[in-house]
Amino acid sequence: MAKSGVLGYPRIGADREWKKALEAFWSGKLGEPELHLQLREIRLSHLQKQREKGIDFIPVNDFSYYDHMLDTAVMFGVIPKRFSFEGEKVPLSVYYGIARGTEHAAASEMTKWFNTNYHYIVPELEGVRPVLTENKPLIAYREAKANLGLEGRPVLVGPLTFLKLCKGYEASEIDSWLSRILPLYVQVLRELEEEGVQWIQIDEPILATNPTEADVRRLYTVYETFAASAPNLNIMLQTYFESVEYYRDIVGLPVKGIGLDLVHGLGGNLSSIKQWGFPEDKLLGAGIIDGRGVWKAPLRKKWELLQELSQVVAVERIVLQTSCSLLHVPVTAKRETKLPAELKDALAFADEKLDELVVLTTALSQGEAAIADKLAENDRVYRTLERSGGRNRTDIHQRVSAIAAQKAQRSRPFEERQLIQRQKWQLPLLPTTTIGSFPQSAEVRKARQMWRKGELSDGRYGEFIREQIDIWIRLQEELGLDVLVHGEFERTDMVEFFGEKLAGFAFTQNGWVQSYGSRCVKPPIIYGDVAYTGAMTVEETAYAQSRTDRPVKGMLTGPVTMMNWSFVREDITREQIAYQLAYALRQEVEALERAGIGMIQVDEPAVREGLPLKRSDRAKYLEWAVKAFRIATCTVKETTQIHTHMCYCDFHDMIDSIKEMDADVISLETSRSHGELIHSFELNTYRQGIGLGVYDIHSPRIPPVEEMNGMIDRALRVLDPKLFWINPDCGLKTRGIEETAASLRNMVEAARIAREKYKASGHIS
Ligand code: GLN
Ligand code: ZN
Repeated sequence: MAKSGVLGYPRIGADREWKKALEAFWSGKLGEPELHLQLREIRLSHLQKQREKGIDFIPVNDFSYYDHMLDTAVMFGVIPKRFSFEGEKVPLSVYYGIARGTEHAAASEMTKWFNTNYHYIVPELEGVRPVLTENKPLIAYREAKANLGLEGRPVLVGPLTFLKLCKGYEASEIDSWLSRILPLYVQVLRELEEEGVQWIQIDEPILATNPTEADVRRLYTVYETFAASAPNLNIMLQTYFESVEYYRDIVGLPVKGIGLDLVHGLGGNLSSIKQWGFPEDKLLGAGIIDGRGVWKAPLRKKWELLQELSQVVAVERIVLQTSCSLLHVPVTAKRETKLPAELKDALAFADEKLDELVVLTTALSQGEAAIADKLAENDRVYRTLERSGGRNRTDIHQRVSAIAAQKAQRSRPFEERQLIQRQKWQLPLLPTTTIGSFPQSAEVRKARQMWRKGELSDGRYGEFIREQIDIWIRLQEELGLDVLVHGEFERTDMVEFFGEKLAGFAFTQNGWVQSYGSRCVKPPIIYGDVAYTGAMTVEETAYAQSRTDRPVKGMLTGPVTMMNWSFVREDITREQIAYQLAYALRQEVEALERAGIGMIQVDEPAVREGLPLKRSDRAKYLEWAVKAFRIATCTVKETTQIHTHMCYCDFHDMIDSIKEMDADVISLETSRSHGELIHSFELNTYRQGIGLGVYDIHSPRIPPVEEMNGMIDRALRVLDPKLFWINPDCGLKTRGIEETAASLRNMVEAARIAREKYKASGHIS
């Protein structure tokens, strides 16, 4: 008999009760004992749900009070020194301190979990002596057993992945760290074995990236040690997000199961299985239900895949699994009441995916006939979706493929545009600007809420927005900024705002997913052909421009960012979706230009996020991502200045692609890695307009003038002053009004000082 298994279940709850409990605790409204009680109830109800659905391998210890990497770190006593913690059990104050910072100690850095939008807390090894503070998987296992009589499968981040994601050590020290951490893992495993635990899921997603031969050796050390230390504990060595490298070595490890992603790594993993076979002494964790997408599994295709697999692996050795943890999808599609029927019928969030696992497991054990009606129903759902008008805009298909076949090139190269634009815009040396948004004050948020509820008419709301624009245009002039923005007061989220105005997008009511800590996001779903339906930003931008003689920059979200921050359809490629978005945005760019806007910024903060995990796939992605940006921006006049903006990612290995985008000006956030970035520009000449953020926007602190001059000077050691712009790191929507004004005043002063200096030094005419 085949079995089913889940790699992790969303923590947040259908009503985000997890988030609410955490936030109530942080604000002091909920005591610690009540927090424990509430979370326990949530946790147990999730286990109960999976059992009721009929899942065989149900994960425990996938739950967390914040993040599973932080849990792992804390369990091993990896607590940054600045929290000066001594003792055995780590209290919640320290746990949350690491995640969110305290009065005395800064939070640890967080970063994206592989290529997902989930952020984990980066453990810091520096100066730490690892000790086992508690056996979390054991506690979780016992809880499920005692309360529900359920034999859970504990989940644990594996040692190789854990260490690779830690910081605070040199690459050459990894083996010595491994030898320090390994005994702690062994202790955890031994205690589980003694308890009578049957299976543990050890996650090693690092194997789906580009591990080295040395890593494979380390893997052998680790899993041989485990096999020798806890021989009766069965290990499912779990990988996900991509196919594994070194397949033959990995399936040769002394473990009892190997979990492979057969959705996101299908091509590579399936051909490895077919080519090299699969060992007969192991279970295959076949990750066939997509843990990252929101669509129903195309059952017939999945069934065919299973038949192919069962040629190589005996049915009783297959565990049908989610491709990764369900952490990355919303909880249930049942409660969506406002979506078009054809779309709603085609959605499967976490709970619906549990059903799918069970259906396929049944089929595998009992044969196709057992699920004949499910197959027929699934065929119907897909047929309806395929035929829906929203997916069959032949006008869009033709136009976009014609555009994609062209080169997407501005009428003149940058060197020529630069001269023409300098002539036209007459900007001072080192021009000052901002990234787009200004503070979304309580007043702004309240007005928008009232308008959404119908308590404020369109007319009054429009008036309110214009008032805000007036205030900020006046303020920007008074501060002496050179290129102004309208402030984005009418926008909440930079994708949602545009998605709501374009065809092809849908918005769920409850489709929340955890992004970091208690912070959840509700990504839109791109389910149809994306099409322009009319101007989106022209009114506000043109209004702002009518109130000043200085240039006002139009402000759009770029095609790749819109795609990467959405759930997308799977019947066409991401490249095609990006081009559809690009074509729609091009029409907005052109509309802005026609309305007299001569500078247009197309933000692409999320380009890096779409970067494939495997190095070999990256060039191709970057090529079409850049092309999408160019499609959106290439049809304007040579005098029109195209800006772009990127932030909070590593740019240094992307500089060539950034050049290729061919923007006239780019602004980059630098607070993360100013020094490194400057170094990258030492190695790569960049000869287009560029502004490296001169202050971090994450703090209410007002940056002193000298500090910003320091940043400018350092940047100008490697960048041409004639091409350099002065701007903050990112948008200012989360900041207060007063501090924003004060910071920008200092920034303008810093620019003035720098101008004097560089003119005087004869650097510039
Ligand atoms: N224009 C946007 C803003 O200023 C850019 C936001 C971003 O980079 N994430 O808010
Ligand atoms: Zn930004």
